[in-house]
Amino acid sequence: MTTGRRPGPAAESAAAVEPPAGPGTLRLRCWGTRGSVPTPGPDTVRYGGNTPCVEVVDSAGERLIFDAGSGIRVLGDLLGRQPEAVRANLFLTHFHWDHIQGLPFFSPLYSEATSLHIHGAPQDGLDIRTLIAGQMSSVYFPIPFSALTAQLAFSDIEGQPYERGGTRVTSHAARHADATFGFRVDDAAGSLAYLPDNELVGGTYAAGPDWYRSLLRFLDSVDVLVHDAMFTAAEYPSREGWGHSSVAQAVRLAEEAGACRLLLFHHSPDRSDTDLDRLVEDVRNELARRNSPLQVEAAAEQRELVIATPAPA
Ligand SMILES: [Zn+2]
Ligand SMILES: [Zn+2]
Repeated sequence: MTTGRRPGPAAESAAAVEPPAGPGTLRLRCWGTRGSVPTPGPDTVRYGGNTPCVEVVDSAGERLIFDAGSGIRVLGDLLGRQPEAVRANLFLTHFHWDHIQGLPFFSPLYSEATSLHIHGAPQDGLDIRTLIAGQMSSVYFPIPFSALTAQLAFSDIEGQPYERGGTRVTSHAARHADATFGFRVDDAAGSLAYLPDNELVGGTYAAGPDWYRSLLRFLDSVDVLVHDAMFTAAEYPSREGWGHSSVAQAVRLAEEAGACRLLLFHHSPDRSDTDLDRLVEDVRNELARRNSPLQVEAAAEQRELVIATPAPA
């Protein structure tokens, strides 16, 4: 599937032709779409049961990875089979289990040839390295963090954009646990944003009164928005304050920000493939009734989305 830089008829017609991956494209592939806990089984085969991990390859061919849920194990195995050494930047939204639990199983970490730069936010007075090493202490895991042979670097993301070549990654605070962030990637080929855990309304958080307006500015006209849509409208009232949004709230954000395409993400462990099909159908019917240009789908494991600069007319 493909999306153009901006919504509208030109982008729609350009989307009919799948461009080759490579220079001039920004590629996104979800390796884990499920929230809170892995949910393998026959009811989650199509949208996936792994917890959050999203791979982005920018137009210069550089690899950016967002979160290290159980899906990163599968990505690691794929990268490990390629002849070239693994070099990537890993951005962690926060340190809840479902966003880091796959990291000890990311096989490139056990190779001296691997270079991994991990970006995240310190929490509770602990730096990023200490937070990651904690889940590999002997109480929780048989192999110590010190056994990793990859070349590792760590950076604090707060207020510090990451830039390399023509690609820029910026962060914005989310309404979730303390020090949770979302990310936006701007590249020559297009833009995308990733906010897997974010309670748009309701709950009590440290975010100030201008937070929603600030988030809209952060997401302004983004090509692809990957956003928390864990709950249905019927579920949300009994789960307010749990740190997540409803599908309707995510759709409203995407429309108000002028996003081209919305990927519903952080699927509830209780949601089957059939449930997700029905949710997406309901949203599309509602958008069609209002003539909204927003394109919506549920994020699906291992499905690639290519954002490409439209060919000149
Ligand atoms: Zn989560
Ligand atoms: Zn979380």
